[in-house]
Amino acid sequence: MNSRLKKIIVIAEYSDDRPAQVTLELITCAREIRKIANADIQAVVMGVRPESAAQILSLTGTDVVSIEIDVEKEQYPLFQRRILESAMEELKPDIIIAAHTSMGMDFLPGLAVSMGASCITGVKKITVESGQFVFVRSVWNGKFDAMIRSEKAVTAVSVPPGSFKPADGRAAKKGTVSLWKNSDIAEDRRIRIESVEKKGASSDSSLDDADVIVSAGRGIGKEENLEVLREFAGLLRKSAVAGSRPLIDCGWLPYRRQVGVTGKTVSPKIYIACGVSGSSQHIAGMAGSETIIAVNTDPGAAIFNISDFCVIEDVVPFMEALVKLISTSESQGC
Ligand SMILES: Cc1cc2nc3c(=O)[nH]c(=O)nc-3n(C[C@H](O)[C@H](O)[C@H](O)COP(=O)(O)OP(=O)(O)OC[C@H]3O[C@@H](n4cnc5c(N)ncnc54)[C@H](O)[C@@H]3O)c2cc1C
Repeated sequence: MNSRLKKIIVIAEYSDDRPAQVTLELITCAREIRKIANADIQAVVMGVRPESAAQILSLTGTDVVSIEIDVEKEQYPLFQRRILESAMEELKPDIIIAAHTSMGMDFLPGLAVSMGASCITGVKKITVESGQFVFVRSVWNGKFDAMIRSEKAVTAVSVPPGSFKPADGRAAKKGTVSLWKNSDIAEDRRIRIESVEKKGASSDSSLDDADVIVSAGRGIGKEENLEVLREFAGLLRKSAVAGSRPLIDCGWLPYRRQVGVTGKTVSPKIYIACGVSGSSQHIAGMAGSETIIAVNTDPGAAIFNISDFCVIEDVVPFMEALVKLISTSESQGC
């Protein structure tokens, strides 16, 4: 795929009538491409009541197509894909950008197949070499980067949350919003969703409000060892303890404390990753942190690639020593 493009389409996600944070990040990604290709950007917001989210998204200066669909069809990926196929016929994109989330992965590969497009998933950076776009994605648990070119005229790209900074929601000039309805597409139901339940207590805003997040990974070893992280967090103002998914799966921390692509996206002033390897799914939720400190026994751990400070130590004795040091300094009035 050469760098002469006409149209970039961003497929938006939204909840509670507002564009998701990742959607604003996709807009930034599209703008990075536009810097090279000078192409038009349009976003597609699809759902039962997409209009409010579409209006808010247009405040970033992006032109938006809002596609309203029936409530009973909303949860069906095949149906969403069909709607997007028909929209893409009209919009004629060269690049389609979606979030690398459960929703994006539900429809993007299928959409690419039906359009005869290439599909490159987990893209965290886009560059140009010799007039050709190069899409960069992490492989081998973040230890290597793969540089991928598209061999097709149309390319579908999924971008993990946290890969780009979110676009500012107040541009000087608002984008346009076109309202489309799409209820005449036949349903092809191959699965039946019995119910959808919201996970975790939404009232816990500890991670959103924290300046410092102390995050535990599997390297912490056992549940009792979380205590030293709690103790450390207790010594700091506006801090909270979070964890990687294996800890939440073990029931050591509640789901609302999970950071990552299937958990929360956080951007505290300081993120301390304790025994976290740095899988792409975890990084997606914390890469936007201002300063990242990682403690890990493996000097080759992928988390170090994105860390500002790298501590190669056994996490529990290291954190115990840190707690002791801070407590002693405090008691001496330092
Ligand atoms: C669809 C999907 C969605 C996912 N969503 C998420 C998500 O939202 N969030 C998430 O976190 N994961 C998610 N995962 C899981 C993800 O792929 C990884 O398995 C997970 O992030 C690994 O967690 P970890 O880093 O704690 O454990 P590990 O990968 O096992 O890493 C443990 C690390 O601890 C280090 N270590 C070991 N002992 C010590 C010690 N004594 N001191 C210091 N360091 C030590 C090791 O060197 C290693 O780097 C998802 C996976 C899938 C397939």
